[in-house]
Amino acid sequence: MDLDLSPNIQAMFQELILDHYRRPRNKGALPDADRVIPMHNPLCGDEIDLHLKFDGDRVSGVAFTGRGCSISQASASMLTEAVKGKTRAEATALWDRFHAMILGDQEAARDKSLGALRSLSGVSRFPARVRCALLAWDALKQGMKG
Ligand code: ZN
Repeated sequence: MDLDLSPNIQAMFQELILDHYRRPRNKGALPDADRVIPMHNPLCGDEIDLHLKFDGDRVSGVAFTGRGCSISQASASMLTEAVKGKTRAEATALWDRFHAMILGDQEAARDKSLGALRSLSGVSRFPARVRCALLAWDALKQGMKG
């Protein structure tokens, strides 16, 4: 069953993506970052450096630098808002949920706990953009290892 979004919701989602693209949240280097993970998407030319700081098991700081298409930059901006303050387990659960949604899982796309991230659910219909949406998230996964 396809996700049946009203034109109003689609317009709202589009607006949210553009808002994060034009006014990215937590963009800039994190001076005391524990890890900086560079990611590159050669298909589209997107570049993201994800900066992470941990306080024990918790992601206490997250920011990004980089450039690229609206999907890649909006996704990174939304990631920083969604992940800050979460434990590794919570961030991993969110990663799983977001990943499933981007790959077309309709149930995940309806999950209100994803908040603003749901605005990227439409990306699943454009396989060429999937990598753009997942770029910052792949950096997050790598940064939480070990
Ligand atoms: Zn892109």
